[in-house]
Amino acid sequence: ARTLKIGLIPGDGIGREVIPAGRRILEALPSSLNLKFSFTHLDAGWETFQKQGVALPDKTVEVLKSDCDGALFGAVSSPTVQTKGYSSPIVALRKRLGLYANVRPVKSVGSGGKVGKVDMVIVRENTEDLYVKEEKTYTAADGSKVAEAIKRITEKASYNIAAMAGDIALRRQRVREAGAESIHSRPQVTVTHKSNVLSQTDGLFRETARRALAEQKYQSVKVEEQIVDSMVYKLFRQPADYDVIVAPNLYGDILSDGAAALVGSLGLVPSANVGTGFAIGEPCHGSAPDIEGKGIANPIATLRSTALMLEFMGEEEAAAVIYKAVDANLEEGRLLSPDLGGKATTEEVIEDVCKRL
Ligand code: NAD
Ligand code: MN
Repeated sequence: ARTLKIGLIPGDGIGREVIPAGRRILEALPSSLNLKFSFTHLDAGWETFQKQGVALPDKTVEVLKSDCDGALFGAVSSPTVQTKGYSSPIVALRKRLGLYANVRPVKSVGSGGKVGKVDMVIVRENTEDLYVKEEKTYTAADGSKVAEAIKRITEKASYNIAAMAGDIALRRQRVREAGAESIHSRPQVTVTHKSNVLSQTDGLFRETARRALAEQKYQSVKVEEQIVDSMVYKLFRQPADYDVIVAPNLYGDILSDGAAALVGSLGLVPSANVGTGFAIGEPCHGSAPDIEGKGIANPIATLRSTALMLEFMGEEEAAAVIYKAVDANLEEGRLLSPDLGGKATTEEVIEDVCKRL
């Protein structure tokens, strides 16, 4: 059996209640998969900042770099007032590990909600665009203030994110062909931008993405485009039309939170921060101080993030086993956590999903 080394970064609040679920599901995988796991606990977050003076200790980054095949990140609390020296550890991690993409699958349960079934992935560029944070404020001639920000789009990052979207579309098709149930029958990538207005920046994104996806290996992928505002409209009217959506940083941020709203609870939605050869699975929710310590946090976003991490490690079969078990739990609907209208505890949901592996 191969041994995969996984870094566990629980963080704060319910991060500490859901990250153990990731460990449990990996340990419970059927032995026929021939996988073994070893785990290392790593610090990050607000409590780490209060104890050590840094939210992301160097040791955490070093161990991830030198001694882990993949990792799971829970959630961190941010200080409510601006605190000197504090900066978001997940943002720093993405930078220091070169995790240039944020990948967020959104899948409905059963027949879906009001908008029907949904099964899409949003692939968001994660290093540039307006989030380079190059802002300045100055005073205009009439004495009033003006603020400006740089929106930086590079050919390199646009190419890489589009290629990743193409690869994800092909992999989803393979998973479907291997028997996973889905509303889609062919791979599709929708390139989202606003190049009708921002012809240089979004124009470069659009043009580069189209070139990347025109390559031979993506010939089975249907490539289409959508201007971002009409994308939002269609996302809420006809979400079933979308398989993989690729977008620059800011649009991707907004679209992915919006898409998460289509499926009911934040407690269901996973994500992965992905770079070359490394992925960190991360539930989309925060540290949820309102339910911390009650043992009722929904572990499903973390279980799905664990599967997503495995996909990027090339362990598609193991990932599929987890997705199936989670879907079965949700479809039966007997052991659901309170955010889904049920009465089950975190522990009861984990046990139920593990039994279904
Ligand atoms: P949140 O995601 O923590 O909670 C929003 C609401 O959803 C709450 O009512 C919460 O109880 C519920 N919820 C979230 N996850 C759930 C789960 N797994 N099961 C059941 N219910 C769940 O967002 P917030 O309240 O705006 O932020 C709380 C803290 O988390 C803040 O300090 C914020 O900065 C931080 N935060 C961190 C991340 C991250 O680490 N990636 C993301 C968002 C917010
Ligand atoms: Mn966001």
